[in-house]
Parts: sequence; C-alpha cells; structure tokens
Amino acid sequence: MAPAPTATTLGGEGTTSHRLATTVAGNGAHEGAFKAMVGNKAGVAKNAARYVLAPDVTAEAFEAFIDEAKQAVGADNVHVNLSASIEDHERGDYLHQPRFHDFFPIDELDKYMASAAIQPASVEEVQAIVRAANKHGQPLHTVSIGRNLGYGGSSPRLRGTAILDLKRMNKILEINEKSAYALLEPGVSYFELYEHLQKTGSNLWVDCPDIGWGSVVGNACDRGAGYTPYGDHWMFRSGLEVVLPNGELVRTGMGALPDNDTWQCFPYGFGPYHDGIFSQSNLGIVTKMGIWLMPNPGGYEPFLITVPRKEDLGPMMDIIGQLRVRMVIQNAPTVRHVLLDAACLKSKAQWTGSDTGAPLGEEEIEKIARELNLGYWGFYGALYGPEPVRQGIWQAIWGSFQQISGAKSFFEKDVGPESILHSRAKTLAGIPNLLELDWISWRENGAHNFFSPISAVTGEAAVAQVQLVEEKARKYGFDFMNTLIVGLRELHNINCLVYNRESKEERDRMRACIHELIDEAAAKGWGEYRTHNEFMDHVAGTYNFNNGALAKLNDTLKDALDPNGILAPGKCGVWPKRYRGRNL
Ligand SMILES: Cc1cc2nc3c(=O)[nH]c(=O)nc-3n(C[C@H](O)[C@H](O)[C@H](O)COP(=O)(O)OP(=O)(O)OC[C@H]3O[C@@H](n4cnc5c(N)ncnc54)[C@H](O)[C@@H]3O)c2cc1C
Repeated sequence: MAPAPTATTLGGEGTTSHRLATTVAGNGAHEGAFKAMVGNKAGVAKNAARYVLAPDVTAEAFEAFIDEAKQAVGADNVHVNLSASIEDHERGDYLHQPRFHDFFPIDELDKYMASAAIQPASVEEVQAIVRAANKHGQPLHTVSIGRNLGYGGSSPRLRGTAILDLKRMNKILEINEKSAYALLEPGVSYFELYEHLQKTGSNLWVDCPDIGWGSVVGNACDRGAGYTPYGDHWMFRSGLEVVLPNGELVRTGMGALPDNDTWQCFPYGFGPYHDGIFSQSNLGIVTKMGIWLMPNPGGYEPFLITVPRKEDLGPMMDIIGQLRVRMVIQNAPTVRHVLLDAACLKSKAQWTGSDTGAPLGEEEIEKIARELNLGYWGFYGALYGPEPVRQGIWQAIWGSFQQISGAKSFFEKDVGPESILHSRAKTLAGIPNLLELDWISWRENGAHNFFSPISAVTGEAAVAQVQLVEEKARKYGFDFMNTLIVGLRELHNINCLVYNRESKEERDRMRACIHELIDEAAAKGWGEYRTHNEFMDHVAGTYNFNNGALAKLNDTLKDALDPNGILAPGKCGVWPKRYRGRNL
C-alpha cells in the first residue's frame, strides 16, 4: 500500500485543471480582472446615475458611505460598481471571477449585482465599515474569498448590497502542532494553508472541498464539506471571533475568557452556545476561526469501488451507511454518478459527437460507463492509518461489497493516468486542487447550479431522491449527474446541474427546474442544506414546522442584533424589518 502523500506545491501537479489548463496563484488570482472602478469624490459623483443602489439607499447616502469606507480602508481598497448593465459588465472566468455579480448567473446577470466591494485589512477596519454602514443604511454582504460558485458566487442576495471582501485579512495566526489546530483569518485559502503546513514541515493535514480555491473560514461559514475524516467543516471548528452588526467584537466559547489557551480546543465555553447563529447567517462577520487539523495518520490509501448497474445504488448505500455509522469507513467518501466522472474528462460534445442540448439517454450513459470501465456508480473512499490498520479496514469494506455482483475495486496502481481516482486521491488527503472544475465544461459556456438536499444514508432514501432529481432534470432538458457525500448519518446529495450560462432560455429552464424540485422534495420531507441566492426564500419557506416558528425565531434574532438591517438582507431567507415582506 502507498505511503502518506508528500507535498504538492501550489501551481504544481494537481493544482491545474485538465481542460482549463490554468494554474492557480493563490487567492489573489482574480485580481487582474477585478477592475478598480474607483473614482475620487468628483469622479464618483459624476457617475451617480450608474450606481447600483440598494432599495431605499439614496445616491447621497451611498456616496457618504463610500467616503467613510475610503477613510477607513484607503481609496485603493474601495471599488465602486459602475457597470450596472449586463452589456458593459466584465464577465470574468473561473479563476478571475467578477466581484460584483455571480459568475454563474441563473437569472439576468445584474439581478444579484453588488454596488461596491470594500476590502478591509484588519478587525478595526471591519468595525469602521460596519459603523459607517449603520450610519448610512448601506447593506453589506461578507465574503471571505467569494468563490461560492453554484451557490451564488460572491454576489449578495439583495441587489445594491456592498460586498465586504475579507481576502486581505489572510494571516495564519497560529498552528498548534500538539493540539492539532489552526487559528485563521478569513482570507486564508486552502492552498495557502496547505502550502504553509508543507513549508514548515508540519505533521498536520488540511481538509479541503473539491476545489481548493476558497477560504477555510468562508467554506466553514457556509457549512461546506470536504472528504477526509474531518470533512464536516463546521463540526471541526472551535472558537469564533465575530464583529456583530453594531460593530461590537465578541469571541465565542473559551475565547470569551481573556488569555485562555483552550479557545481552539473546546468550542462550547460556558452558558448559551452561539456559534451556530453565525453560520449561513446575516448576524455577524467572522474575523477569526479556529479549525481542527488532522494529524498525519501514518499511512493512506485511496480506493474506488464500482458497481455495474443503476439499480445497484440502493444496496451500495445500505452497505456504506452501516459501515460509516460504525466508523469503519473513516472519512466522508462520495458515491458518484458515472456522468460526473465522464464530464471531468471530456465535454458532452466530445463524448457524443455533438451536444444537441437534449439530455443523454440510458443507453448513451451505459456506453460511456463501459468505455470508462467505471460501472454506473463509483464509490471513492480512502483508508487512513498504518498498514495493518488499513488492511483490516479494507477487508471489512471490500468484504461487505461481495453482496453486489459485478462490484470491482481499484487502487491507484490499478488505473490509468486519466482516472478520476488520482484527483480524488489528492482531495481525500486534503491536498487542494482544481481538477473538479472540469465537469463544468460538460456544456458550452458551462455553469452549474447545486441542488443539494439531505438524505438518510439508506438505499431506499438515496434511490428515491435520485429518482426525483433525475426525473426533473430530464423533464427540463438537463443531464443528471450527482455526487453523494456520506456524512456520519446523512448524505449531502449534491446534484451538479450544468447549463449554458449565456442562454437565457436555459437559465429560465434551470430556475423552473430547481423551484419545482424544492417543492417536490419538501412534499416528501426533504430539505436543502445550502442554496443559491435565487432560491433562498423558497428553501427557507419549506422549513415551516409549527406555522413557520423557525422563521419567526430568525426574525427575532435579526431584529435584536441588526435593527438597522445592515448585514446581508435576505440571506438564507432572513430579512431585516426594513425590507421584510417586500418581495425583493
Ligand atoms: C466544481 C466545484 C466543486 C465544488 N465542490 C465543493 C465541495 O466539495 N464542498 C463545498 O463545500 N463546496 C464546494 N464548491 C462550492 C465552493 O466553491 C466552495 O464551497 C468554496 O469554498 C466557497 O467559496 P469561499 O470559500 O470563497 O467562501 P465565500 O464565498 O467567501 O463564502 C461562502 C459563504 O459564507 C459566508 N461567509 C464567508 N465568509 C464569512 C465571514 N467571514 N463571516 C460571515 N459569513 C461569511 C458568505 O457570505 C457566503 O454566503 C464547489 C464549487 C465548484 C465550482
């Protein structure tokens, strides 16, 4: 079996997408295309007609806010959006994303457009911006790096909100080797944390999402997922520092006790436990976060198990569910539809000769599966620990799969250089890379929307959910492909629905498809864990036990903590009083 993975440096092997063939350069990679459309006072005023103002914010109030923001962070770090129309707005690309709108628009490009982007470099500067926003009624949407593609990118829910972009706050404040954690500012990317650990000879591993371009703190704030044993990013966090909507600074858990040395070790502290209200929320700006890091397990071996038939999904998920809940499966593995792997290798047109726009039929999918020797579903997992440990675990896992006729197993040595197992091998060891970006190019001008309901880890539940999404995707003319991320007792069923972002007709169809899916999923008792701006109100409305009691609690908290309605109005369906019920 293979030894633990060694360092892969930024820009080296594994950080480059096959088809995009672009090398990442850390979280500053987008800077070239991030136009600084900044004026002096006179310049800005001259362009007042081109501002993208939030409802009820006047041009004068916006300018006064921008002036104060410039005083707080310097004019170079305040960018005003003067390109409010789809025609004149820069479109960007994967690695040079536009800052003022979603790179994967699902409606008109300017629907979720921001008015400005402000880039503070310190907690004090964040506080100053928040105070200015309160004074002038200017809404703010926080991003750590802003690469939330598939869920809205860096765009705000409410048009005209200014982006509070924390990428300049990018210090790795502490790495504690013995207690195995990091204390980070929001602008630290997965690539940067990984590189730092490699450079300093640390024995600690990162856990990263499929794409390593984002922020460790930002991803955790959105309760994102990775694939090592530390894959639930919100779970493996301890201690927050937060700027509240009134500008006050708090530390949660043990951090509230001055000079405490267990802030990053014990998340709860004493008394009410608040951390959850700062995730997927508009109640605070996280300026520091402790994140647990996995010590090098002393050995590592990624594997792939394929099953040949579509109907094998049920038995496969039953097996995986029981192994996972007993922690025989150590990490958060994935079960992937064969088209997702196919899309990582070639576009739809390359596979089929031409992309007619119609979804592929079963015969075509099975043909691709045969060509790739992949079966219909692929279970990508890994074994962690010294060899005897790995061998014991492997026997238990592979032994269980003997129930499925035609199941095959592969290690890296068994597959060709094109196999997705090699890129999964990086991700499952927490080595950030960009290889999964390739499936977005399945379609011309590819963009994707993640439809992400939660399912129980049982064959029955997974099959029922897959059937629903597949049926709707077909009905609306999209190919179905998904990845099921296996948590301890649930599946994140991530449906990767790819569309042509330049086609209004396709965007309209995709919106209709997702809205219908949200309704039909809710009717079966399924809810999404995360969604795009476009669907936030709809999804929030499905969490409606006891006459919307949860929404009322959210409103109560919002009104108490953010009476001026400054932070991210409408995020996750939570609106401040000033905008509530206005159908914005
Ligand atoms: C091909 C592909 C594969 C992907 N795979 C994965 C995956 O495996 N797992 C996964 O989780 N995601 C995945 N994503 C989605 C996305 O790229 C990542 O989640 C990414 O890490 C999010 O961007 P970010 O880290 O820059 O966070 P940001 O965009 O900065 O923030 C994400 C959210 O958290 C909030 N937030 C950020 N920082 C703060 C803060 N300091 N205080 C308060 N709120 C804050 C933001 O308002 C936003 O709502 C994938 C995307 C693509 C295109």
